[in-house]
Amino acid sequence: MIKVYLKKSREESVKRFHPWIFSGAIHKLEGVEEDGAMASVYSSDGKALAVGHYQIGSIAVRVLEFQTDTLPENFWEKRIEAAYRFRSVLGLAENESTTAYRLIHGEGDMLPGLIIDIYNDTAVIQAHSAGMFLAREEITEALKRTYGKKLRAVYDKSSATAPFKAGLQLSDGYIYGNETHPASIKENGISFFVDWCSGQKTGFFLDQRDNRELVGKYSKGKNLLNLFCYTGGFSMYALASGAISVTSVDSSRTAMEMLEKNIGLNREAGIVLNDAKHDSVCDDAIEYLKKSQKGQYDVIVVDPPAFAKHRAAIPNALRAYQRLNAAAIDKIAPGGIVFTFSCSQAVDKTAFAEAIFSAAAQTGRRVRILHRLTQPADHPVNIYHPEGEYLKGLVIYVE
Ligand code: SAH
Repeated sequence: MIKVYLKKSREESVKRFHPWIFSGAIHKLEGVEEDGAMASVYSSDGKALAVGHYQIGSIAVRVLEFQTDTLPENFWEKRIEAAYRFRSVLGLAENESTTAYRLIHGEGDMLPGLIIDIYNDTAVIQAHSAGMFLAREEITEALKRTYGKKLRAVYDKSSATAPFKAGLQLSDGYIYGNETHPASIKENGISFFVDWCSGQKTGFFLDQRDNRELVGKYSKGKNLLNLFCYTGGFSMYALASGAISVTSVDSSRTAMEMLEKNIGLNREAGIVLNDAKHDSVCDDAIEYLKKSQKGQYDVIVVDPPAFAKHRAAIPNALRAYQRLNAAAIDKIAPGGIVFTFSCSQAVDKTAFAEAIFSAAAQTGRRVRILHRLTQPADHPVNIYHPEGEYLKGLVIYVE
C-alpha cells in the first residue's frame, strides 16, 4: 500500500471528486512505487481524501473511492451491481432486441481505467490501467455474482491496453467459462457478428448505437456512402431502412469480411431486403472519396478512428478532420446530409466544430447544422470528469 500526501495547493480537485491525481500534485510519497498498487491519498494535514490505483506516470492515482483511505467491503460487487442497475434503468440489461451494451465505462461508472462490454452472455473486459488489470479476478467474481447464470464467459482483452512496462508479456483470453466467440448480437433488432478475439477494441463499436438509428431515419430512398464502416454498423441500419444503395469503405479486410457476413445474417432474417444494393470496398477512405463522382451520394457517414491519441497530436488531427470533411462536403449531392464524427478524447467539441466549419468554408457550399451528436447513455459522463465526453458528431445539410 502506497501513501500519497498532496501539496496543500493541489487538494481542491480531489475534494471536488475529480478521479485523477496528477504526479505534480504529490508532495510526499511513502511506500514502494509500483504500477497497479493500491494508494491512499491524504491532504497535507493528514486527512483521508481518497483511495485508488497507483501508476507511474502523469496520472499517478486513479481514484476508486473518495473520503476514505481503504476500499469499502464488497467494493467491486457494489460498483458492478450499481452499473448493472443503471443499465436496467436504460432498458438495456434485459432487452431482446438489443443484446449488447457497455456495462462499465471507466470514470463514467466510477471505475477509472476499466471498460466492460456485454455481448449476449459474455463480458469482455479491457483494462486501461495496471490496477484494473491486476483486479481482473475480483472483477470477474463480482460479474458472476451480479449476473448469475446469465453470464457464461468473461474474456480479458487487455494485452494491448494495460500499460505495463516492457518485459511483461500479456495475452488475451477467457478468464471464466468456455469459448463463446464469435457470436451474433442484436442491436435495435439488427444482427451483427462480433468477434472480441480478433476484432478492434472489444469487438464492436457500441458507442454509435443511437447515431446509427438516426442514420436509418435519413436513409430511405437514398444512396449512402459509409466511410470507415468497420463491420457495417451504419450500413446495416441504412439498408434496413430502405436505402436504394449503400457503399461501405474500410481499409481493414477482416472488417469487410465480417460486414459481408452481417449482410447475409440480416437478409436471412428479412431485415435487409433482397433488392437493397450493397457494395463493399476495401480502400483508404480519402482515396476512395477522391475517386468518387460529385453528387453520387445523398448521405455520407464519416466515422474515422481517433486522429489524436494525445494532446500533442491535436493540431495535425484537426487538419486531418478538415481535409477529410472538406472532401465529403465537396462530393455530396445537393440537399445531401453528412454525418461526421470524432472519437478523439483530446479534441473537444468546439475544436471539432471549428474544423468542420473550416471544411465547409473551403468548399464554399451552403451548410446547416441539423444535429449535434454524442455517445449513448451506457457510455455515461461523470459530471466531475467532463473529459469523459469523447464522442462528438455533427449532422450537416449541404445545399
Ligand atoms: N463506423 C464504425 C466504426 C469505425 S472505427 C461502426 O459503426 O462500427 C474506424 C474504422 O476505420 C476501423 O474499422 C478501421 O479499420 C478503419 N480505418 C482506419 N483507417 C482507415 C483509412 N485510412 N481508410 C479507411 N478505413 C480506415
